[in-house]
Amino acid sequence: MISDDERAEVARRLARVRDRIAAAEVAAGRPAGSVRLLLATKTVPVELVRAALEADSVARAALVTRDGGHPPVEAVILGENRVQELVAKAPHLADLSPELHLIGPLQSNKVAAASRWASCIESVDTFALAGRLAGRAVVSGRVLEVFVQVNVSGEATKHGVAPRHAVELAVQVAALGGLRLRGLMTVGANTPDESAVRAGYALLRELSEEIVRTGGASTSGATELSMGMSRDLELAITEGATIVRTGTAVFGTRPR
Ligand SMILES: *Cc1c(COP(=O)(O)O)cnc(C)c1O
Repeated sequence: MISDDERAEVARRLARVRDRIAAAEVAAGRPAGSVRLLLATKTVPVELVRAALEADSVARAALVTRDGGHPPVEAVILGENRVQELVAKAPHLADLSPELHLIGPLQSNKVAAASRWASCIESVDTFALAGRLAGRAVVSGRVLEVFVQVNVSGEATKHGVAPRHAVELAVQVAALGGLRLRGLMTVGANTPDESAVRAGYALLRELSEEIVRTGGASTSGATELSMGMSRDLELAITEGATIVRTGTAVFGTRPR
């Protein structure tokens, strides 16, 4: 069980991140609510994830009461890195029906488990993986959402297709039955140099525009950009992020 203090802390941190997103939307001249918040929940105990979902739902309800009509922001998305952790936690979150994404690398032997619990795989970086996911989706008679992950920084430790192959891969993935390509995802450069981080996010946006310009099958809707983390979400929003992924800003520093 988690304490009332921990509950209050996660609610406070979540509100702070929502404020940062709203301020960045204004600064970038983008409509309020145009950026969705994904909570990266690796290593976070399921009770604390539940507390975050509950805090989010309370905060959104309060906004509705004040303004009337629809909540001005959509509910948070949850993102897990490891399939094993996704499978362990998802059943304990099912009653809250969160939107669940896989944001970490996916091995082919875990495709079935991942597609059972996640509605979206953000880490597709090879056509072979896309093909396996598509096959699985067709067999189970559903449509699986995917992002193509691009390694914009070129750092060897990062997953994702190289930028020069990203458009070709995305066009091929979009054309597969059983999948819906939502857009591109990246993990930004790990550097304090803001201009380098920002250039990577700008590159992801340019690649995304190029994909739509190909006119390839089912590419016209593939306009989402999942980019930006706790430390740099403002830069990502300036460059067009539609989903930012935060872990530490909401849950605190992870145990290592
Ligand atoms: C952990 C993680 C995040 C969140 O990073 P923070 O720095 O904790 O905000 C975002 N994306 C991916 C793929 C991650 O693994």
